Amino acid sequence: MVMICGQTCYGGLKSTHRTGLTDSVQCERLAVAVFTCTGWLCDDIPEPNDSPRYMYFPEYLHHRCNRIRRRAWNELDPPNTFAMGQGYPGNTVQREWSMDDLELDKKASQTVRNIIDACDLDWTEVTVSELDNLDPRLVCLKCSYGNHCDGERPMMVRSWRESVKHCTKKHWSDSTVKWQKISDEESRSLRQDQEEAAASTTTPPRKIWRCTHCHDKPGEPEKMTVQGMMDHLEDQ
Ligand SMILES: [Zn+2]
Ligand SMILES: [Zn+2]
Ligand SMILES: [Zn+2]
Repeated sequence: MVMICGQTCYGGLKSTHRTGLTDSVQCERLAVAVFTCTGWLCDDIPEPNDSPRYMYFPEYLHHRCNRIRRRAWNELDPPNTFAMGQGYPGNTVQREWSMDDLELDKKASQTVRNIIDACDLDWTEVTVSELDNLDPRLVCLKCSYGNHCDGERPMMVRSWRESVKHCTKKHWSDSTVKWQKISDEESRSLRQDQEEAAASTTTPPRKIWRCTHCHDKPGEPEKMTVQGMMDHLEDQ
């Protein structure tokens, strides 16, 4: 699968972002490569997650719609076509891997670029994993009316991924929104607070587990909760 990705997934990116990119960087890994899905399944049954449903490397490569299609009602059982299993609507069958249903979200991409600018980094080089490792905490300067975080006023501080969503939901992905990266010291203490808060709350189980035994086989089920996965494995 990785081989196929390497050949095809540049499609949208090349045309938009090629200029200025160094050859050593694989553009599909860049943080500015933000995709949304326009596939029928994601329209009908969105994955259980926040909207807007942005996907970054490597998630978009593994997105379910890259491997499925809806079988036409009058289509005969073609040979070598596997139907998808539990969790998928009937008539969902596997297809050759393709990112055709995914769309590079130029507005979200621009927001990531603005965030990377605020971190004093080069958007043509910063990968998703680098930005995740840096884990910058950001203040939306549009919401703060241009006021910078000074430790006095209470301000909303977000991770980079949450900031992208915020910009879309609150500011219609306004490309002029600017960001402030708060100091590393403040970020550290915020992260600690968040981790403590997360540890003391229980989140409902999410369907995020895929069965590798069933991958690319007939009746491959949709993602499951941990419990769903255990039941599934028992049934095998
Ligand atoms: Zn999709
Ligand atoms: Zn804002
Ligand atoms: Zn399985």
